[in-house]
Amino acid sequence: MKGSVAVLSVGDELVLGQIEDTNASWLARRLQAIGRTPGERRTVGDDRRALADALRALASTHAAVILTGGLGPTLDDLTREALLDVVSPCAALVEDAAGVEHLRGWFERRGRPMPASNLRQAMRPPNARLLANPHGTAPGIGARFESDAHACEVFCLPGPPNEMKPMFDAFVVPALGDDAHVVATAALHSIGLGESALAEFLGELMVRGREPSVGTTASDGIVSIRVRATGPRATAQAALESTVAECLTRAGNVVYGRDGEPLAAVVGRMLAEQNLTLSTAESCTGGLLGAFLTDVAGSSAWYMGGAVTYANERKIKDLGVAAATIATHGAVSHETAIEMARGALTRFNTYLAIATTGIAGPSGGSDAKPVGTVYVAIARRDGDIFSRRFHFPGDRTTVRRRTAHLALACTRFLLLGEGARSLLWSEGEAVRVERT
Ligand code: ATP
Repeated sequence: MKGSVAVLSVGDELVLGQIEDTNASWLARRLQAIGRTPGERRTVGDDRRALADALRALASTHAAVILTGGLGPTLDDLTREALLDVVSPCAALVEDAAGVEHLRGWFERRGRPMPASNLRQAMRPPNARLLANPHGTAPGIGARFESDAHACEVFCLPGPPNEMKPMFDAFVVPALGDDAHVVATAALHSIGLGESALAEFLGELMVRGREPSVGTTASDGIVSIRVRATGPRATAQAALESTVAECLTRAGNVVYGRDGEPLAAVVGRMLAEQNLTLSTAESCTGGLLGAFLTDVAGSSAWYMGGAVTYANERKIKDLGVAAATIATHGAVSHETAIEMARGALTRFNTYLAIATTGIAGPSGGSDAKPVGTVYVAIARRDGDIFSRRFHFPGDRTTVRRRTAHLALACTRFLLLGEGARSLLWSEGEAVRVERT
């Protein structure tokens, strides 16, 4: 079966932004992995008419529609009624005997009486079929929509992701999986260059319409190069890998990982390979850096620990920062960052120590040090201590996350050796270097 596939998410909570539509992004990724092109995505609230209109429109233009949500037992669950309006407008819902059996068995096994309202979940349009749901009460519904010369397969799946995902594998993959034609994707994650600077390195690889396509996305300081190849499985995969290799050559060592690999894991691997240890001294990141590092399984081999020193008093008492340094230069300064890093290095007895201090906002900024001003310092047992000043735009969460990411990026560049160090302390940035 060829043609694009639409994803329709149903529920007021999604329209109102109360829950994230993780189903739609998961489905889009899985569809590509099985060789289908996600063609369109819509979200509708719990309204029978709006739902039927959206379903009809999508079913008229795509080869398949995957709908999630609205299959529950309550009156605001209207997917089955809307499906009826689209595939059998002149008929009524019918009770599915196997569906009733499933519901009775479900409640019996749990020793609970079945509320009468649950029987709604065994109803389906006469020309549709129920799709078994081993993980919940709501069966899915499969139906075929036909108009003029066009036909579309519709799959209605329950909203809870733990129920939806296995049903996608059980019913949608066998029906829609297209082994001959796949969409192969890869993401290369980089840090250290802005999105436009990276785009210049990638040059004509990013021209629209190129196959495989190359694009970039940015989030919290990390710029990802996204490569996408479409075609028969063997050639698409080979074309993908050759474009990935070309991107790597052009982007150079700002690329740290592929396909979701966390930066902290990459730093950890480098530390482990070189048999080195790390500690942290955090102010504005409040432990976020330590959290990123300890998210990596096995991190105790190379991450010894850290101090979260938010108040000046703790910077002085826990890390040995001189009170005079803070009084003269401020808590957010090269001087304080350098003393914090030095303090962590000796107190935690590690080879490397990273310190962060900055103004995450929304208040606390000044003309000289506006909100978003951050200092990251790195001390090495047998080398210089570097401190670099950054200015990050964005809200408090963004500034904190970017700080933690850039601190890890600085560490990575340092560990890469002399050649990469120029990237770390790129020209024009405010940098201070001090001997240990
Ligand atoms: P149920 O019988 O469990 O109610 P349902 O098909 O009626 O199944 P909904 O009531 O629409 O599903 O959603 C139930 C829950 O599933 C939501 O509260 C939400 O937690 C989750 N959910 C629904 N749709 C999505 C979605 N698109 N992305 C992520 N989670 C979702």
